[in-house]
Order: sequence, then C-alpha cells, then structure tokens
Amino acid sequence: MILKALLVGAVIYIVYIMFFKQKSVEKNSTTTKKKEQKPQTNEMVECARCSIYVEISESILSSGKYYCSDECIKKSEK
Ligand SMILES: [Zn+2]
Repeated sequence: MILKALLVGAVIYIVYIMFFKQKSVEKNSTTTKKKEQKPQTNEMVECARCSIYVEISESILSSGKYYCSDECIKKSEK
C-alpha cells in the first residue's frame, strides 16, 4: 500500500513538474510577445543608446525605440 501511494505521488509530482514547466514557458513567450509588438523578421535595428546594430528578435523595444540590452534602456532613462 505504501509503495502504491509513493508511486501515485511520484506520478503526480512528474505530471505537476511537466505541467508547470510548460505553463511557465507558455506564459513567458506570450507575455514577451504581448508586451512589445515588433516585426518577426531578422531585420537589423540600431540601438538608440549605443548605436550598435542588433537583430530585431534580439533587441528590446522600449517606448518606441530599439535597444541592444537592458543596460542601454536603463542608461537612456537616466
Ligand atoms: Zn545599446
């Protein structure tokens, strides 16, 4: 009986972990997509702060401007 309970517990645990992982991934991808809408191309954009060119997919869109990193956003906000 104890063994059975352990087995059930393990299965529930595995399912829970898998479900939780999937959920968190889905949540992340949808929030990033919804947060800032940018074209899904490999176009290069110039960082508004340091003028480095980054792929649109790699860039961060903040108040209508593209940045190469969070650092640049923070620096430009100051
Ligand atoms: Zn930059």
